[in-house]
Amino acid sequence: MNIADIEKIRTLFPILHQEVNGHPLVYFDNAATTQKPISVIEALDKYYRFDNANIHRAAHTLAARSTEMFEDTRKTIQSFINAKEAEECIFTKGVTESINLVAQTWARKFVQAGDEIIITTMEHHSNIVPWQMICEEKSAILRVIPINDSGELLMDEFDKLLNPKTKLVACVWVSNALGTINPVKEIIQKAHAVGAKVLLDGAQACSHLKVDVQDLDCDFLCVSSHKLYGPTGVGVLYGKRQLLEMMPPYQGGGEMIKEVSFEKTTYNEIPYKFEAGTPNIGDVIAFKKALDFVNEIGKDFIAHHENSLLAYFNELLLSEELKAVKPIGTAKEKVSVQSFVIEGMHHFDIGMMLDARGIAVRTGHHCTQPLMNRFSLEGTVRASFAIYNTLDEVKKLTDSLIRICKLR
Ligand code: PLP
Repeated sequence: MNIADIEKIRTLFPILHQEVNGHPLVYFDNAATTQKPISVIEALDKYYRFDNANIHRAAHTLAARSTEMFEDTRKTIQSFINAKEAEECIFTKGVTESINLVAQTWARKFVQAGDEIIITTMEHHSNIVPWQMICEEKSAILRVIPINDSGELLMDEFDKLLNPKTKLVACVWVSNALGTINPVKEIIQKAHAVGAKVLLDGAQACSHLKVDVQDLDCDFLCVSSHKLYGPTGVGVLYGKRQLLEMMPPYQGGGEMIKEVSFEKTTYNEIPYKFEAGTPNIGDVIAFKKALDFVNEIGKDFIAHHENSLLAYFNELLLSEELKAVKPIGTAKEKVSVQSFVIEGMHHFDIGMMLDARGIAVRTGHHCTQPLMNRFSLEGTVRASFAIYNTLDEVKKLTDSLIRICKLR
């Protein structure tokens, strides 16, 4: 693929073709949520125009149709992450719910007083707070792997933290604030060697990297549709069958049961045991189109293009006029996410000035307050690049930053 291909890809995203504050929109807030291709938007529209019906429980044609499409997404995500079985993929609201599901079922059942759970310094709050809650409830201990100044895990320190009391390592695969790609395969092997399970927060990783849960051998992987060109309100929890079968249900209600009487209720098979109530049917169905979009372009091409955007940005930042811009997160292995600060300026003011020129970036702590504390920062400006971004847009960002630096 080349520039012409990126231009073609851009035509698939209607939202990109608008002006914001009198300038063409430059959308660099992809780590917060990606934009949606027309195929996803049309799938949602089609679902509500022609197919809307509740799934799994009715004899009529519309219900059969929507059930088939819903389960088709499950098969697509199974092959996207290379799970052994579609039943190992549970639909949730997003990564936050996927993590809470594991904390409230697996951890509540298997974590005992004095057990240890290991996370990293660079976790999103959604992979910190659920474990703090369970540790408090169970009198278990939360341990944290430190990082170096580039934003890389100190693996020697991880080795020291691991011990037979470690029950779980819950680790972000790719940091949303720094872009760091963590060595998850090594983490999984080491954790398994002491008998611990591993949960990967794949919120950021799944849109940039190839995912193969069987090769990784992770016990749980959490996926978010809206970071992967799909609708909001949909996520996936992958878990190994054996673990999911041992876990109690998350919520009680319709669909998750086999039989209910006032004396006793028996539970459904996986994945339905964890899918109580009417799910987000339309958005799950549209999520398939997002996965098809990524599959069609291919992760190799996506990585190649996004890495060239990141490299170009960092090259431009080396210019004398931008020497006040300090990149935060300079790991050797990273995706196309670049946080930075400008000496003497508040990140929020920088974000506002960029917005005035049509450039959307994220500012603040990125739901990683302990990580910001590690760098003695209140927040950063974060530019995160996706497949539809261009080198020209990156240049617009650095041109605007040059103007902003002159105001210091
Ligand atoms: N984990 C990471 C690394 C994230 O970047 C995010 C979202 O920003 C989440 C978890 C939460 O994901 P969701 O919005 O799907 O709940």
